[in-house]
Amino acid sequence: MTVLEAEEQIGFHSSGRSATMVHYALGDRLVRALTFASRPFFDSPPDGFTDVALGHRMPVLVHAREDEREALDALEAEIASFATIERLDAKGVHELCPLLKDDALHGIADRNGTRLDPHALLQGNLRTLRRNGSQLDTGQRVARIERNKGGWEVSTEQGGSHSAPVIVNAAGSWADQIAALAGVRPVGLQPKRRTIITFAAPPGTSLDRLPFAKTVGDCLYFAPESGRLFASPMDEVPSEPTDAQPDEYDLALAAHRMEERTVVKVERIHSRWAGLRTFTADRHPAVGFAADAEGFFWLAGQGGFGLQTSPAMAAIAESLVVGTPWPVADVERVALDPGRFLRQPA
Ligand SMILES: Cc1cc2nc3c(=O)[nH]c(=O)nc-3n(C[C@H](O)[C@H](O)[C@H](O)COP(=O)(O)OP(=O)(O)OC[C@H]3O[C@@H](n4cnc5c(N)ncnc54)[C@H](O)[C@@H]3O)c2cc1C
Repeated sequence: MTVLEAEEQIGFHSSGRSATMVHYALGDRLVRALTFASRPFFDSPPDGFTDVALGHRMPVLVHAREDEREALDALEAEIASFATIERLDAKGVHELCPLLKDDALHGIADRNGTRLDPHALLQGNLRTLRRNGSQLDTGQRVARIERNKGGWEVSTEQGGSHSAPVIVNAAGSWADQIAALAGVRPVGLQPKRRTIITFAAPPGTSLDRLPFAKTVGDCLYFAPESGRLFASPMDEVPSEPTDAQPDEYDLALAAHRMEERTVVKVERIHSRWAGLRTFTADRHPAVGFAADAEGFFWLAGQGGFGLQTSPAMAAIAESLVVGTPWPVADVERVALDPGRFLRQPA
């Protein structure tokens, strides 16, 4: 097997720009089930991933003002079957996260959250790929895809040429473009930009004890990051597939929301970045063979949960391509089938 990557390095796009959390306050039941099924991989990584930790424990706190209490109740009920959740009153919320303003009156905590090391995850995948006799070709942008008798011919802008019976389309925000090259009907992906800033914490903050803290609505999250804090205004700005760059408005919004919900003053933004989270119309991934082209496999639409669901998604892809047993009992194959978008009018 050969993996073709357009950039000179892996992780240049979304996978290297994520908030790198594993938590359940994101997505819906299907996303939570994929996350739950992925936990054992992160907690006890297989050979090839074990030389450095894939992540470290970071509690997850979802907090709410009085007017957001009902939304918190609903989220608690949804998460409860996946994680051990503690209900916190105002005192508990502020003990776990002293940076929040006094109006954070209610909270739920999952002490078992994990902050991943995306570099360790990518390098572990790369080692496993090589150990299995496969290869990664970087700096190879797929430019032409043609069907032949035995399968597919793939050529790159740089002059590379490959043939294979199966193509796995895992091109993130570009996956619909790859389908178009192959003459396969797109699934209708929409990349959405999200912004992150880092800045100094107030002097004396015990950074190593802070949680990943998120508003119950999609307004703000923040967490410790390499001796500072990072925060996102949880923006979802529709974008073309591109090397996403932060917009001034979203940078200002991140700082504003941080000051609105916490006691932190963002005096100076230390660093900033943006990345794309790419969604299908129902915000579930598209995984499976295309109904309209033999041997064309979709692995796309990982939205804002692509790292934390990657072990389960990989096992599902393996099951569908190679024929190993279906790995996630709680997730139905039909819910991921890319064909669901073809059944709707184009
Ligand atoms: C700000 C932010 C925060 C996030 N937070 C989290 C989080 O806390 N937890 C979580 O689980 N997920 C999170 N995510 C989501 C996660 O990062 C994505 O779901 C995941 O990285 C998607 O992986 P991917 O491999 O599909 O896409 P990518 O990492 O973008 O990889 C796609 C690759 O395809 C390559 N490519 C494109 N076109 C071609 C071509 N023609 N030829 C060859 N190669 C091509 C690109 O160069 C790229 O490297 C976050 C994302 C962002 C942006």
